[in-house]
Amino acid sequence: MNIILLGPPGAGKGTQAKRIVEKYGLVQLSTGDMLRAAVANQTEIGLRAKDIMERGDLVPDEVVVGIIAERIDEPDCGNGFILDGFPRTVAQAEALGDLLHKRGRKIDHVIQLEVDDEALVGRIEQRAKETGGERKDDNADTLRSRLAVYHESTAPLLPFYAAKNALKKVDGMASMDDVAVAIDKILV
Ligand code: AMP
Repeated sequence: MNIILLGPPGAGKGTQAKRIVEKYGLVQLSTGDMLRAAVANQTEIGLRAKDIMERGDLVPDEVVVGIIAERIDEPDCGNGFILDGFPRTVAQAEALGDLLHKRGRKIDHVIQLEVDDEALVGRIEQRAKETGGERKDDNADTLRSRLAVYHESTAPLLPFYAAKNALKKVDGMASMDDVAVAIDKILV
């Protein structure tokens, strides 16, 4: 089973992805986590991505598509994966469709976590406190740019997947447990 989790920054994608990994034995593929590791290891990609990420902008499509293309060929992805933070543009979604098609694979579920922008600022501030400011992009100013980028570049994925009858919506404002229950109903 291959899943995409969609939603703005702070919607709870990472939290739900981790839970789904444990329950369904899938691999979590978070391009944000992979890029942060690349920055920490000062790889070529990391050096390219660092400033872009700190500003809250998007890393170029070909970079993230390349990362995902390599990663899904690894054996641990054979049982399925959950994409968290990818795709973030229609071009990425098209590239993902092509590369899965070439491998005889497909996306089974696209789940949108619906949340209010206003609530996100509070959640991100909470995450920044809990993680001791570990993420340079978890602050109110950068969040505003990340939200603007989400609405401009990522929200068009909603009609894109809806047109393929693939989109399922979950109320991301509900408690973490209720969101989990709603997701499980889709996945059974
Ligand atoms: P995230 O952890 O998903 O919030 O991602 C953190 C940052 O990494 C984003 O604000 C972008 O700068 C970059 N990033 C992560 N995933 C992507 C993607 N699919 N396309 C472009 N940039 C990405």
